Amino acid sequence: MPGKSLEERLANGGSVIVAEGFLFELMHRGYLQAGGFVPEVCIRHPDKVKSLTEEYIHAGSDVALAFTFYGNREKMRLIGKEDELKLLNQKALEIAGEVARETGTLFAGNFANSTAWNPNNAESIEKVEAMFKEQIEWAVEAGVDYIVAETFSEIDEAMLGLECIKKYGKGVPAVVTLCPPAAGTTREGVPFDVACKKLEDNGATVVGLNCWRGPSTILPLMPKIRAACKGPIACLPVTFQTTCEHPTMQALINPVSGKQAFPEDISAHATGRTEIRKFAESCKEIGVEYIGLCCGNQAHLMREVAEVYGRTPPASKYKADMSKHWVFGDKQKFQDYTTSMRDECFKT
Ligand SMILES: [Zn+2]
Repeated sequence: MPGKSLEERLANGGSVIVAEGFLFELMHRGYLQAGGFVPEVCIRHPDKVKSLTEEYIHAGSDVALAFTFYGNREKMRLIGKEDELKLLNQKALEIAGEVARETGTLFAGNFANSTAWNPNNAESIEKVEAMFKEQIEWAVEAGVDYIVAETFSEIDEAMLGLECIKKYGKGVPAVVTLCPPAAGTTREGVPFDVACKKLEDNGATVVGLNCWRGPSTILPLMPKIRAACKGPIACLPVTFQTTCEHPTMQALINPVSGKQAFPEDISAHATGRTEIRKFAESCKEIGVEYIGLCCGNQAHLMREVAEVYGRTPPASKYKADMSKHWVFGDKQKFQDYTTSMRDECFKT
């Protein structure tokens, strides 16, 4: 659908598939340090960011999202590289813009919770506004189709993000997503349906939830958001097996170490394709129009989401066909001696 805007794609029951998760995937590939989680890779290895963006689109994403998540002044100060802040943002935007043009996908800017927010300190609020402003202005200069403001566990910081997009964004649409903590409300105690409605009433084009929770603990929050909001809603979980007992990825305990799995052992809790497919089916049933995956996203999971939402991305050509497998496949295609190897997988 080249050329269609975000709103046009979402109109009349349409949907937008969105690949996030650059931070974790590039961490797992050895190009980004866990802890600070600063997307320096956009400057050091732009080719890796570009190829991952292309990979996600190949698997069904409708969006080339600039990897400026945590590419903010506070994070760059943390690693002593504030002087490279603008360069990082420009590089990330250049990469996503190029891929969007080449693939006919939407080009999105992005900023996250500031990690410098303190609602009780006027100076902090001013500082956060300045941080949002500069990232929004760089995104607009690069010609983004819309801006994603995400992973806010506080509605007040999310509202400031939205207000900044309205004030400095020259009219680009805003997608604002909240990050659901273990308690199931914003940090201020506001239920997510109320918080999302507030964002929608104040002009966000899409509102919803992303990050921290996996499919099974994010989904129960969605029906109320659907009921409260008139416009498109978003759901982008992490791809880890969170539970009622451990509702966020940060709460997961690694069975080998007995310690917090986040971030080094988090892959031990990864969801598979079946779980992601079921998640996407539930979202479709609830009426989630802006659907995607966050931390832990990989192309094979993105493809499941895209297919449930009626797409046939190029990666569908390579979806599993176990009938061709030499051990578990169609017995007609192989010697009995070969397929009888099956027993060797199970018998002890
Ligand atoms: Zn995430």
